[in-house]
Amino acid sequence: MNLVLFGPPGSGKGTQSQRLVESYSLSHISTGDALREAIRKRTPLGLQAQAIIARGELVSDALVTSLLREKIAPLRENTDSFLFDGYPRTVPQAATLAEICDEFRLQPPATLNLHVPDELLIRRLTGRRICPSCGEVFNIYFKPSTLAGVCDVCAGPLVKRVDDDPETTRERLRIYHDQSSPVLDYYAERGVLYTIDANGTTDEVFEKIRSVIEEHY
Ligand code: AMP
Repeated sequence: MNLVLFGPPGSGKGTQSQRLVESYSLSHISTGDALREAIRKRTPLGLQAQAIIARGELVSDALVTSLLREKIAPLRENTDSFLFDGYPRTVPQAATLAEICDEFRLQPPATLNLHVPDELLIRRLTGRRICPSCGEVFNIYFKPSTLAGVCDVCAGPLVKRVDDDPETTRERLRIYHDQSSPVLDYYAERGVLYTIDANGTTDEVFEKIRSVIEEHY
């Protein structure tokens, strides 16, 4: 089984990916995580992507696709079940993913679309605080840490993602509606789009995802 987890920034793709990976033994590929790793390691690709991500824009299809191929190739030796998180984000990327699946002899993916209204996305993104040490995620509006700015799990300092400031958040949502949402039509035309109302708790949303998967796979 191959899945694309699709949705606007702040729709909970990262959180739901973790749950899906645990429940269905999928190999998780997040292009956002891979890009942040490349930036941390200061690779040539990371250096090219850094300013683009900080502005809330999309990295070029060519760059992000080469990163995707790099991630799939070693994992493919041991698995035929992937969860693509954050890719595709444009229609050309969706077409490329179909080619990549062919090339790596993978089943064409089904797409789970997490739908969340924009007003809620803005609070989720601008309120998000992350612990870089242990990866725990908080939100000053919905899930505040006990002590402001301090991780409840490991007591490390919490930080904001550079692209979570209000101005960049608005730009990311504009780009989502403009460039990414047409991907929904691409998958709907192929009969493999499942839209989930993702305005709920992590558990509630995961239950909805689970019932879609169990019904269709
Ligand atoms: P994410 O963690 O998925 O929200 O991704 C963070 C940022 O990485 C995005 O705002 C984009 O700048 C970049 N990015 C991640 N995936 C892609 C993609 N498939 N195509 C273009 N840019 C991407």
